[in-house]
Amino acid sequence: MGILVQKFGGTSLSTPQAREHVIRHVKRELAAGHSLVIVVSAMGRRGEPYATDTLLDWAVQNGNALPEREKDLLMCCGEIISAATLCGLLESEGVPSTVLTGAQAGFLTDASFGNARILDVRPERILRELRAQKVVIVTGFQGQTEEGDFTTLGRGGSDTSATALGAALRADMVDIYTDVDGILTADPRIVEDARPLGFVSYTEICNMAYQGAKVIHPRAVEIAMQAQIPVRVRSTFSESEGTLVTQPEAFKDAQPGIVDRFVTGIAYVNNITQISVECPDGNVSGVQLQIFKAMADNGISVDFINVTPTSAVYTVFDNNSEKAIAALQELGLRPKSLSGCVKVSVIGGGINGVPGIMARIVEALSTQNIQILQSADSNTTIWVLVKKEDMVQSLRALHSKFELHR
Ligand code: ADP
Ligand code: MG
Repeated sequence: MGILVQKFGGTSLSTPQAREHVIRHVKRELAAGHSLVIVVSAMGRRGEPYATDTLLDWAVQNGNALPEREKDLLMCCGEIISAATLCGLLESEGVPSTVLTGAQAGFLTDASFGNARILDVRPERILRELRAQKVVIVTGFQGQTEEGDFTTLGRGGSDTSATALGAALRADMVDIYTDVDGILTADPRIVEDARPLGFVSYTEICNMAYQGAKVIHPRAVEIAMQAQIPVRVRSTFSESEGTLVTQPEAFKDAQPGIVDRFVTGIAYVNNITQISVECPDGNVSGVQLQIFKAMADNGISVDFINVTPTSAVYTVFDNNSEKAIAALQELGLRPKSLSGCVKVSVIGGGINGVPGIMARIVEALSTQNIQILQSADSNTTIWVLVKKEDMVQSLRALHSKFELHR
């Protein structure tokens, strides 16, 4: 039997009870004959002692200036603590295991500290340890530069570590263990009757992840898709096999109809500011060009762009809104802005060309008196912008309109 990569997220490692579940999944797969490579995240979330955000808050308290390179060094600590803890537990259970840092596991990255890109994975050391019958525990989210500096891979980086290892090792499967029963039709923290999906295609989950479903990082899915490595997203706290992510051909027979379901799920991104600018008569297109050039020059990424014969309307993240407004005022314009908006997305492979979907969206929202501030669509997604206070209602209304709980 081949190599299985298991990735355990922060909440899967943060309590003794959770770690017992982890040990159970490890032992079960070992008994089934797999060679195991385990990728771990830092334990817990902000506020808990060894979580990465806690370490950061602590190091930069009182506004201490921590350079990016040294920040990455600090951010590598949480995963090291998790990995050593798990190694101790496995050894006590009589399971020979060893810990490799990102660098030791062969992750070579560029030097963009805080958001480094993987250039290569050289897994020789891992393979050597596997041949010595060890379970190999790799600290997720990290790598090193050619010069040997520690780097981190940005948000969701441990997911990326796991699928990049899956690809480099030609693993049979990458299992992403988390605190929910797989990929659901919406975030279960907001939509209570969200339902786990048995199968999804790489493209479907990639779209959902890009639109805010944070259960797996989109970059991690892209890497798995390129290498054609199947991924399973599943719960640490149950035996359920969760959601299988693979090519649609692979599950056509298992679940007829699933390939052409037209809506897969609902997702959201919050903290968005809508900016609208009326353009002076006479030079509308010149002003529109100036606007978007000013955003680019300030490094502000824009989304949801609607250019009309008299105006430009678009969105930026809240944390860029002050800078954006200032840049527009410098051009002599008088922008209007609305902060705290939420981009809600209806995602599915078959949206393209199905008549009446937008009508259903408008109907679902208007019966709840929810105002659509803006909308846009592509062949896989329809987006609507709503106010923050309407977010929860919007997600629930759309989820039920498309009968995703069934
Ligand atoms: P981990 O620490 O295991 O990486 P994350 O917090 O990154 O966990 O991801 C799991 C969380 O993703 C879940 O607790 C859930 O609230 C959230 N989530 C958002 N959208 C979805 C979705 N469509 N399906 C499943 N979980 C989702
Ligand atoms: Mg995660």
